[in-house]
Amino acid sequence: QELTGLVLEHLREIPDFPEPGVLFRDITPLLADGPAFSRLVEGLADHYRGRVDAVAGLESRGFILAAPLAVALGTGMLTVRKGGKLPGPVIGADYALEYGTARMELRPESVEPGSRVLVIDDVLATGGTAAASISLLEQAGARVDDVCMLLELAALGGRAQLAGRRLASVVVF
Ligand code: 5GP
Repeated sequence: QELTGLVLEHLREIPDFPEPGVLFRDITPLLADGPAFSRLVEGLADHYRGRVDAVAGLESRGFILAAPLAVALGTGMLTVRKGGKLPGPVIGADYALEYGTARMELRPESVEPGSRVLVIDDVLATGGTAAASISLLEQAGARVDDVCMLLELAALGGRAQLAGRRLASVVVF
C-alpha cells in the first residue's frame, strides 16, 4: 500500500550497528520529514479508527509512533517500558535476547479492563519485546488483537510469537 513506499523511501540502513553483523534499520529520516511523518500517522489512523480503545507504545521508538497515533485516533496512549523506568506499582516480564535477557514493565492501573489495545513498535525482529509486552497488557486486562510494526524482519521469525493476533507490518524485509 501507499505507506509501504513512504517508509521505504525514508529508511536508512546501517551495517554493523550496534554490533558487527547486524544491519540496523534507522527510521529517523522518516521522523525528520514532516509531511512523510504526518502521512504515516494519518494512514495508520485511517486503518485503526474505531477499532481500538488505546494505543500501547513499546519503549523507546514505539513511543514516537504511539503518541501521535493515539491523538489522531482520540484514544489514550499506554507506555510499556524497559525494566526499572516506571514508578510502581508495576508488573514485569523477562524475555531472552540473543545475549542475556531483557525486561518490559507496565503500570497495570493504566489499562482499562476489557479495552482493545493496539500495540505498536518500529521493528519486529525476534518478537520477544512484543510478546512480553502483550503478555503484560493481557495480564492487566487488555484485549490485544492488533499489533502494528513499521518494519518486520521476517527471517527472525517474530510473527510466530504473535500467533492469533492481526499483525500489520508496513514493510516486510
Ligand atoms: P525483538 O524483541 O523483536 O527481537 O526486537 C525488537 C526490538 O528491537 C524493537 O523494540 C526494536 O526497536 C529493536 N530493534 C531490533 N532491530 C532493530 C533495527 O534494525 N532497527 C531498529 N530501529 N530497531 C531495532
